[in-house]
Amino acid sequence: MAKTKITRPHYRAPKICKECGGHCCQIYKNVADGGSRPLDSWFDEWCEDWEAEFEHCGANKTKPLFDPLEVHMLGNEHMIEALLAKGIDPDYCKYRGKEGCIIPWKNRPNACKEYKCTKLSEEHRITTIIACECIAKAVV
Ligand code: SF4
Ligand code: SF4
Repeated sequence: MAKTKITRPHYRAPKICKECGGHCCQIYKNVADGGSRPLDSWFDEWCEDWEAEFEHCGANKTKPLFDPLEVHMLGNEHMIEALLAKGIDPDYCKYRGKEGCIIPWKNRPNACKEYKCTKLSEEHRITTIIACECIAKAVV
């Protein structure tokens, strides 16, 4: 029997997300501090899970801005300072630059494209259009 591929809607709202600055991309900061890393996860395992995601969708064809395991290692605080001085916050995803995500939309992890925060949920008109675009395969 042929397998059925289940796809979920993708939500794309560049204007809103640019204004927000990518709050949901704080993947190396734990939930208690406002990030998205679960409290019960080990940092290295969490990073490995994301690596698998990046590899699966082709995101890793884009050169990352830093290595989270190296930068967040005890004793490497100077690397954090150096990145912050360049406007790159290492609490955020290694692909989040000053202008937002540096991965082309088509290569971003599904977890990112499927995510709809409260702000996007409130923008009924915009999210409906985005969902229609996805159905029409118009998302680039
Ligand atoms: S999905 Fe929501 S939290 Fe994430 S960047 Fe867009 S507006 Fe911000
Ligand atoms: S891949 Fe892009 S959208 Fe996804 S968490 Fe990283 S910076 Fe954010």
